[in-house]
Amino acid sequence: MLSYKYMSKKTFKCYDCPAEFEAESREEILGILYEHYMKDHKEIITGASEEEKKAWMEKFEKDWAQAPEVTT
Ligand SMILES: [Zn+2]
Repeated sequence: MLSYKYMSKKTFKCYDCPAEFEAESREEILGILYEHYMKDHKEIITGASEEEKKAWMEKFEKDWAQAPEVTT
């Protein structure tokens, strides 16, 4: 099991609208983004090809790794 004890929150901007989210882990932000996309950008998820989904994930991994940490 991974421990998130030492992880701080990061901010991540939606690619398709100005919404911003905060999460402590990659899994958490993926869940948040998925819910957000299903609610506000459903056609992007449902209309994406396998290659587009793969490209999205690759872009996401890079951007998440570089996302700014939230200082509280
Ligand atoms: Zn959005």
